[in-house]
Amino acid sequence: MTETTEPRGPIVGIDLGTTNSVVAIVVDGQPRVLDEAGETLLPSIVGINPQGQLVTGVAARNQLAAFPDRTVASIKRRMGSMEPVPLGDQSFTPPEISAMILRKLRDRAGRALGRPVSRAVITVPAFFDESQRQATREAAALAGVTAGRIINEPTAATLVYHANSHDRKHIAVYDFGGGTFDVSIVRLEAGVIEVLSSHGDVRLGGDDLDAKLLDHVADAFQTEHGVDLRASAQAKYRLLQSCEQAKRRLSTEETVQIAEEFIAEKDGQPLHLTATITRQEFENLIEPFIERTIQSVDTALRDAGLTTHQIDDLVLVGGSTRIPLVEERLRDEFQREPSRAVDPDLAVALGAAVQAAMIDGRAVGSVLVDVTGHTLGIEACVSMSFLGPEMAFSPIIHRNSPLPARYEQAYSTMHDDQEEVIIHVLQGERPEVHRNRSVGKFRLQLDPGGGARSKIVVRFDLTLDGTLKVTATQPATGLSRELIIDNALSQFQADARGAAEERLEDLFDASEELIDDEDPPSLKEWRADDSESNADSPAETGPPPSPMFQEAAALLTKAQAARSTVSGQDAQDLELLCNNLKQALADDDPAAVAAVGAELEDFLFYVR
Ligand code: AMP
Repeated sequence: MTETTEPRGPIVGIDLGTTNSVVAIVVDGQPRVLDEAGETLLPSIVGINPQGQLVTGVAARNQLAAFPDRTVASIKRRMGSMEPVPLGDQSFTPPEISAMILRKLRDRAGRALGRPVSRAVITVPAFFDESQRQATREAAALAGVTAGRIINEPTAATLVYHANSHDRKHIAVYDFGGGTFDVSIVRLEAGVIEVLSSHGDVRLGGDDLDAKLLDHVADAFQTEHGVDLRASAQAKYRLLQSCEQAKRRLSTEETVQIAEEFIAEKDGQPLHLTATITRQEFENLIEPFIERTIQSVDTALRDAGLTTHQIDDLVLVGGSTRIPLVEERLRDEFQREPSRAVDPDLAVALGAAVQAAMIDGRAVGSVLVDVTGHTLGIEACVSMSFLGPEMAFSPIIHRNSPLPARYEQAYSTMHDDQEEVIIHVLQGERPEVHRNRSVGKFRLQLDPGGGARSKIVVRFDLTLDGTLKVTATQPATGLSRELIIDNALSQFQADARGAAEERLEDLFDASEELIDDEDPPSLKEWRADDSESNADSPAETGPPPSPMFQEAAALLTKAQAARSTVSGQDAQDLELLCNNLKQALADDDPAAVAAVGAELEDFLFYVR
């Protein structure tokens, strides 16, 4: 008797999700998603169309509203039960429905790879019990896929970021998808990943946020027109689609419009819907949901016997983690930047692919991703006191954000009828403005008749090559200005810059003999304009001058250099500012030095 060995085809990783499913494979040591006509996500929806044919994914989603009896979504919630699910005039068990999705993914993978696929690593939530895992194995078998292994979703997500890590680490995986939320605390040790605890809510997801927004918009429409859009299945469906889109856009935009023409009728007249939603309004609506997820995080940590300080990495999974409020709350809670370099919709499938490659004994490299290495933002006033405005760094794009990135943030002017705002773009991680790197500055002229404190929206678009486009807009007037900054990322970190500045300073000092008669005046000379009689002035014998005075002196040096480049009114203004600064220095008046110094710095920036 001879033993025949079956050829082992490629082994893929499959995220069989509640809302969407994804298939991926490791190629050349890197996990990659296998797409179909550019679509990476397959909606986890199946249906039987009126012609009696099976439809899956987008085609099934498209018929959901028209043929709800012929379409099934979110079957994952029913895995573990064998109760039949009606589909048209037939009915199927949950594993059978899941098998239809797996079959579609298997075929997608086969087409993308050009050879049949029959093996997969499939992920399930950490909280799935044995009957739910068994149902998943059965679904795979029905789809003609050998489930090489069923692994936990948080384990897969951890593998994407830490496949090659052998250190002992604790990782929190926060997974907020369309229909479910869960958080797992995972221990990674000697290449073994163990889920220590898991907590969540199988009835909490992005769908709830859509429903909340829908209620908000529908309530306002009802108050205005006396028509409840929720009463008509079609109007409700259209509004839900619009709200879901609006929710997504609010993750990067400050304000969105929802517009649906001919959405209802009253007294024979068509009614149109237009609504404006701000991110702040949306955040107020969804805050209770986000708080529930944070409570789950606390419970999972408690169950694992750990505190937030003992967590080495926080991994974000699921489309709903793109919501800025989610990230913000987690940043507060853990006091660290979350890892979201890998697309949160794809992380689980990519991790399943990594596990699949490992089963096959193939090496997997560190996952290559493009992320911002620094936080980018602007200088903004955080509070007003009798001493004047307190300015701080206000982040817009956080460190570790995947590229390309686009975020916007709303601010307001500091005074009524303000005539201009200065957008000072900074890069760094410190709240104090001066501890970050200044990467650009521009002025947006405002409409002086604008009245009360006006809203200014600042948008950052950061490309893969590190080019940052900053746009400031006054929505009330449409006034807008933009600045393009090349290499916004590729330069020194704030700390490194300080050291580099010092190094250069030393170098310049050492080269002083190169400077001829036009030597800029030294600090001592500036402070003691009538210097002859001041040989024993405190500047010479007392303690070294403060950094502020040193900065002022450096500014005056720059001003000296700029003299040859300005003329007319500019030259007069420059002279006046220099004299005022010299006077402030001579008076030993730090407040005046700071104020005039800032004015001079601005002036030099614009005449540069
Ligand atoms: P998942 O189940 O992980 O595929 O997540 C899908 C959920 O993420 C849906 O509720 C989507 O509406 C939501 N989602 C996807 N992209 C975004 C986004 N940019 N902002 C907010 N929610 C999003």
